[in-house]
Amino acid sequence: MKVIKIDKKDWAGGLGKLSDAYRLFGPVKDKDVSDFKELAAGELPDFDFLNTNLSAKSAVFPQNEVMFEYSLDESQEDHHIMKEPEKDYSPRAVIGIRPCDAAAFLLVKRNFDTPEYKDPYWIRAYEASTFVGLACNDPGKTCFCTTAGCGPFHEDGLDVLIADAGDHFLAKAITEKGEALLQAAGWGAEADGGQIETMKKAAEAKISSTVSTDSLKDKVTTELYDASFWEDTAFACLNCGTCTYVCPTCWCFDIQDENYGKAGIRMRNWDSCMYPLFTIHGSGHNPRGTKTQRVRQRFMHKLKYYVDKYGAGIQCVGCGRCVRLCPVNIDIREVCEFMNSYDPAATTCKAA
Ligand code: SF4
Ligand code: SF4
Repeated sequence: MKVIKIDKKDWAGGLGKLSDAYRLFGPVKDKDVSDFKELAAGELPDFDFLNTNLSAKSAVFPQNEVMFEYSLDESQEDHHIMKEPEKDYSPRAVIGIRPCDAAAFLLVKRNFDTPEYKDPYWIRAYEASTFVGLACNDPGKTCFCTTAGCGPFHEDGLDVLIADAGDHFLAKAITEKGEALLQAAGWGAEADGGQIETMKKAAEAKISSTVSTDSLKDKVTTELYDASFWEDTAFACLNCGTCTYVCPTCWCFDIQDENYGKAGIRMRNWDSCMYPLFTIHGSGHNPRGTKTQRVRQRFMHKLKYYVDKYGAGIQCVGCGRCVRLCPVNIDIREVCEFMNSYDPAATTCKAA
């Protein structure tokens, strides 16, 4: 696919044209924090960021989403009938998503779009989206994407990859959707793709943080489950849920009915395996009632169950958000090392 040069003076004009055909989403700064929002008319994505605090997953999987509406008014013929509300699945472009966040959609797709189960909300929003990635020229100290199946110029999951080359952007169309977007913006000056390759190598060389995952699939699940390091790993955890909310590959949600008088909605809201209420049964029994059990679940899911179930690497793209934002410095890179190098013969202690 071809590479286009976009003069920065043509950037706003191109986005203006795009807004005729797409709903535009991009990183927006609020004080020191960047997050993905739908851009207002004429608003530009703010590219002055390492990465957004919350990942871009909310562009496809909103934190709160109405699934159905219903009426409890028995004087109405359609009372107690669940109805899907009108939703806007017109084309949308997610501008400035980092390659790790785009790759995360492919991991999450394994859960939301399977031969057996299809999540209609997620699939419609995903298919309506064109992902325009912003390559990372200067990855952060906590980024370990290159050993998590991803990279600062990684293309999987993107429709266009944009690299900031100073006074201009280089834009590489990766899919037909991406070509159509570049055309709609009116950016068409072809450029030499070699510069992107040079920038890619330079960015990858800046990543010093790594994880080892090569032995995870060979570990015995029950032995890892009983490993002695879980108590120590979980000791400081506050069960605040930050790590799961900021993660682009966490997909858990909860469903609730909310009634207002005789009107009601069925919502789904992000939930977290770090919360005790997430797994509590109607009987009151909680299979993950302790903090250690919940912390273990998070890491076992990402680094063992997912690895074994899909044979497609770990359920993590190395964005580093959970490392940066955990208030007590629990670090997935360290836990991954414990798991990858675990030798049950070298320990006698068992987790609760
Ligand atoms: S962010 Fe840290 S303290 Fe909060 S739930 Fe996750 S591991 Fe625990
Ligand atoms: S587990 Fe942590 S580093 Fe991995 S994708 Fe999620 S937030 Fe990023």
